[in-house]
Amino acid sequence: MKKTFLAFLFLGTILTASAQENNAIADSAALTSDTAWQHIYRATYPKINDLVHTKLAVSFDYDKQWMYGQEWVTLQPHFYSTDSLTLDAKGMEIKEIALIKGKSKIPLKYTYDSLQLRITLDKTYKRGEKYTVYLNYISKPNEVKEHGSAAITDAKGLYFINPKGLTNEHIEIWTQGETESNSVWFPTIDKPDQKTTQEISMTVPAKYVTLSNGLLVHQKKNADGTRTDDWKMDLPNAPYLFFMGVGDYVIVKDHYKNMPVDYYVEKEYAPVAKKIFGETPAMIGFFSKILNYPYAWPKYDQIVGREYVSGAMENTTATLHQDGAYQNARQLVDGNVWEDDISHELFHHWFGDLVTTESWSNLTLNESFANYSEYLWREYRHGKDAADELNYTDMQGYLMSGDEDKDLVRFYYKNREDMFDAVSYNKGGRILNMLRNYVGDSAFFKSLNEYLRLYQFKSAEAQQLRLVFEDVTGQDLNWFWNQWYYGSGQPTLDINYDYTDGKERVIVNQTQNTGKIFKLPVAIDVYSSGNNKKRYKVWLDNKADTFYFASAQKPSLINVDADKVLLAIKHDHKTAAEFEQQYKYAPNYLDRREALAYFAKNKLTALAFGLNDPYSGLRLFTLKNMANAKEYAVPSVLAGIEKLAAKDPDKKVQAQALEILSKMNDKKYQLLFEKYVNDSSYSVAGASLEGLVTLEPDQAYSLAKKYSNDALGKLGEVVSGIIIKNGSENDFDYLFNHFKDEPLSEEKIKEAFGFGKYLATIKDGENVKKGVDEIMKLRNEIPEQYRGFMDVALKQLFAGISSRQKENGNNQVADYVEGLLK
Ligand SMILES: [Zn+2]
Repeated sequence: MKKTFLAFLFLGTILTASAQENNAIADSAALTSDTAWQHIYRATYPKINDLVHTKLAVSFDYDKQWMYGQEWVTLQPHFYSTDSLTLDAKGMEIKEIALIKGKSKIPLKYTYDSLQLRITLDKTYKRGEKYTVYLNYISKPNEVKEHGSAAITDAKGLYFINPKGLTNEHIEIWTQGETESNSVWFPTIDKPDQKTTQEISMTVPAKYVTLSNGLLVHQKKNADGTRTDDWKMDLPNAPYLFFMGVGDYVIVKDHYKNMPVDYYVEKEYAPVAKKIFGETPAMIGFFSKILNYPYAWPKYDQIVGREYVSGAMENTTATLHQDGAYQNARQLVDGNVWEDDISHELFHHWFGDLVTTESWSNLTLNESFANYSEYLWREYRHGKDAADELNYTDMQGYLMSGDEDKDLVRFYYKNREDMFDAVSYNKGGRILNMLRNYVGDSAFFKSLNEYLRLYQFKSAEAQQLRLVFEDVTGQDLNWFWNQWYYGSGQPTLDINYDYTDGKERVIVNQTQNTGKIFKLPVAIDVYSSGNNKKRYKVWLDNKADTFYFASAQKPSLINVDADKVLLAIKHDHKTAAEFEQQYKYAPNYLDRREALAYFAKNKLTALAFGLNDPYSGLRLFTLKNMANAKEYAVPSVLAGIEKLAAKDPDKKVQAQALEILSKMNDKKYQLLFEKYVNDSSYSVAGASLEGLVTLEPDQAYSLAKKYSNDALGKLGEVVSGIIIKNGSENDFDYLFNHFKDEPLSEEKIKEAFGFGKYLATIKDGENVKKGVDEIMKLRNEIPEQYRGFMDVALKQLFAGISSRQKENGNNQVADYVEGLLK
């Protein structure tokens, strides 16, 4: 699974400061209110009965949002004989439970507490003795209550989207099982250490297509205008990976070798489906090759769901993506923002679906690998710099998450959903990257292969991964696992240099205040001049480690952590001259980024090196650092920016360069802006339009009006900015719809305030109400711990809107707005 909340880790400076404050408050509140969970050991769920095969026949009631289900579930005792069976079944109406004996059904006694069915079998069954239980039931996802509390919204298992067709939204049904929600729509042992083969028959209105796990083996038209589709999965997988999807999707066909690889999208996105998902076959080939383990399943489909409660989910052979995957042709010109997610969910088909974590405590076996697969795919397809950039941003995401005190493998947690955090994902991915660097590529991938072969179609825990790595490398790796899997935090390294008497001294202090000292294998490159370097491999394992390197003259550069893989906070006390050497001669993305960040912080013109960096991400980083610093508005630097604005092959870089020039208010750029304002890239067109705003305000306003029917991203932001500034009461619909349709992002949060200021200028009370409700909707989508700063600013904004409404005599609306954040 890829959770949307992870995106919030990168909302940057707007929210970070307030988030840290609020985290502290929230954490202390949690400590005082509920600490019982700290003493509840989360044991792996015991296996009394094992699932063997699950057969379902279901149909849907769109009006009631119910599902009518019949199930034939085959099980066998795991080891000890048993005469009873407990199944998870959440919020169902149970009609009948019976044992299947030949052609007859023997009724079984059971009790049901709306969460679990406790069934008494007809006799005691022995190990290996299979039996099949029949269940007839109604699934009522909107009526599920967990422990008697209010109906839950994010663990309903089965979702009806716009079921009565009351809005324009796509009519859909889809399911979301992880962690233990599929037992809302079929009784099962809803635990990750169970595996079962499956058959699902879905009866749906004939106008819709269906998707489930495995292969579509049979379709039958029924007399009542429905159709029944039979899906079959012959390979065992965990119940949380079961999936159903229904809707009038277009199925865009693709393939890997002879295997179908299809994309289920709304009609509007059919022409671009291959631009969004089309790398999937290449990814299947690449992952199969590096793991030396072919894709195990009979097909691979991907489907997009509206209002999906998470980012994406790796249901076996039927991945569900949220609608953030939908991008039109112009958005895709800037690059496919969903590519990382596509590789993530696909890689789960080895790590998660084939070998499954045996408990949520060991979630790292699913999520850290899926996270790391994003790195692997980028490295292969887009180069090591692009991969290392992700490594860096994911590491920052973890360091900002406030989760540093959590172990990667955790046997104590409040809620199993809490395991899906920046530790299991971001930190776990970085740990795998360090492990790969330490053992070497061939041992790393050989170990992954052995792990897959040993535990295929079974579950595993993190120690089993260690044993495989030890077996392959012949090394003891307890220290690594204890430190990174069963421990928390990361080192803070303070690095100092000193050259005297023909000796270079490197002193590395571990300054983290946790009292813990990390054991770290580290590569140090010592450069004599230019590119001439010698590598030393050392261990850090003391509070202070000092290393001596004999050298006739002062080295031009000492590069500690020369492969740039350490998960650490670093304070590296180099001089500007040394950072220049590092930028020019050290090979990695992070070598260059660290140098550029130093130049930017000290406002040095050496930052301009970055304008010619071979990697677009670093050209972009350079430009972003130049954007608001007057030091770089000098002819020598501007010449470099102009070059990128005129023809950088990367549209995001070109747009950022144009954006800097747009702030110069210089007539000489007018032709450039006019040339690119029609660009297919929304960012390039938006930055160019921004440039015209001050130079040619009338032209910019009429262009904004002209483009308003096709303006997303940067262009949308600029267009709505212009219309807000010049706009009248009549522009409400455009501005409202633009704001409403903008996906959740840092830009949207900024835009909320522009839109709010516009609301403070209009009279129509109904529109004002509609507008502030939409702003509140955005506010409520942001996780509680990140809302602090926003709420303060929103209160001010709402006070302004409210007083304007009062002036207009709309007291009711004024009170409504005023009361929103009270
Ligand atoms: Zn995942």
